[in-house]
Amino acid sequence: MAGITAVDWREGLDAGNLSSEVLTRACLDRIGRLDHHLHAVLSVDPEYSLDLARRADARLQVGERSPVLGLPVVIKDNLHWSGMPVSCGSRVLDGYLATYDATVIQRLIAAGAVPLAKANLDEFAMGSSGEYSALAPARNPWDQDRVPGGSSSGSVVAVAAGYAPLALGSDTGGSVRLPASFCNVTALRPSYGVLSRYGLTAMASSLDQVGPIATSAADIALTFGVMAGRDPMDSTSVDLPGAERLAALQPGNLKGLRIGLPREYFGEGLDAGARSLLEDAIRVFEDQGAICREVSLPHTRYAIDTYYLICTSEVSSNMSRFDGVRFGHRADAGGLSDMIAKTRDMGLGPEVKRRILLGVFCLSKGYYDAFYLKALKARTLISEDFRRVFEEVDVLATPVSLGTAFPFGAKTQDPMAMYLADVYTVTAPLAGIPCLCLPAGLNEGLPVGIQLIGPAFSDVMLLETAHAYQSLTRHHLEHPPLPE
Ligand code: GLN
Repeated sequence: MAGITAVDWREGLDAGNLSSEVLTRACLDRIGRLDHHLHAVLSVDPEYSLDLARRADARLQVGERSPVLGLPVVIKDNLHWSGMPVSCGSRVLDGYLATYDATVIQRLIAAGAVPLAKANLDEFAMGSSGEYSALAPARNPWDQDRVPGGSSSGSVVAVAAGYAPLALGSDTGGSVRLPASFCNVTALRPSYGVLSRYGLTAMASSLDQVGPIATSAADIALTFGVMAGRDPMDSTSVDLPGAERLAALQPGNLKGLRIGLPREYFGEGLDAGARSLLEDAIRVFEDQGAICREVSLPHTRYAIDTYYLICTSEVSSNMSRFDGVRFGHRADAGGLSDMIAKTRDMGLGPEVKRRILLGVFCLSKGYYDAFYLKALKARTLISEDFRRVFEEVDVLATPVSLGTAFPFGAKTQDPMAMYLADVYTVTAPLAGIPCLCLPAGLNEGLPVGIQLIGPAFSDVMLLETAHAYQSLTRHHLEHPPLPE
């Protein structure tokens, strides 16, 4: 099933050559066969999913059509799907079940999609490798001794390993794009506000976005179009210009497209093999008449510091709700403050604690101006860089990561090394602009992705550009060596 796109399944379902029940059963079987190795899935409710599949079949039979009708979707376990566990990859939510559907899930179900499983992640989406999951970490299907990338590790592995044609992750500073690059799938981080955050467990609220994941950009358009748009439950949500073009995505016109290659992204540290694949990808665009030229985003060098100051500050505030009073695990203790302290001490992992401490420090009296406020000012300068450069070019093309997936344990002893894995992915989220990762080929048997970044609300153009590239190449159809 790996290597088959959601658009292919869509055609099969619409033509009546296939039923959603058969497809859903095949996906569940594949999870059953492979997931004891890959650990991408944290929970399933096969009967519930099959029931939704049969309902989709009934709708198909009476001639109803929707981009996602009958298609299985894997969901990152920090999104609320009513009645299912929402662990966030943490012990602190042991036993907690979601009591409502996130808006994105409610819209998918209404359009007839079939939620299939909840997927593994770094605890509360904090991490770059998947290794900070409090449960056994997911493995990279291309090389099981390597990390899949994080934090949406399970969602990406589920698509790469052919468990399901579609998945949802979340992206605060790179969490759909980095694992997509490590596992050879396509993933979009939309413009801030285009997908409702209602029902997405908050990590850093000014940066969090839901991110659709699939084999191709055309596949992503299927789920994205159904989910996008303003939601009264999220006051930061907005409508997406051009959303009507998503139901049947067409390849964008590359002739005359102005592509900027930011000098700051192609410097020291970028692996030579990855660089050469990126150059090949850029040549594909040029051969179609795109005009590529070097540009500069001078404040990029402050991006990692800015991101981690803002992210940890917001994390420290958002995490205060996990206190043992309302959700999940509650420690046995004499008084209320003892109970809260013990619950948090036992329930939260080291990376989450580190971020709470860092964030509380950044926001405390006497340090606020020097850290948090300064980071906000740097964020404005970073956004201004993008605004200026998009007066000269239509999109930017950059690497997604310094190299290919790294071995387990390579960065867990050194938090700074782990943070630096995000060096190419944290900048665009600070500006709220859309970006996506698409497969660019294999380097020594491991996938490398290329990132496209566009101006605010150019999401549809970005997907059309990616679709044009994928109509000319086959990298996205390569799949990992797994048993059928
Ligand atoms: N790796 C980044 C971090 O640890 C991004 C995480 C994310 O996007 N959720 O913060």
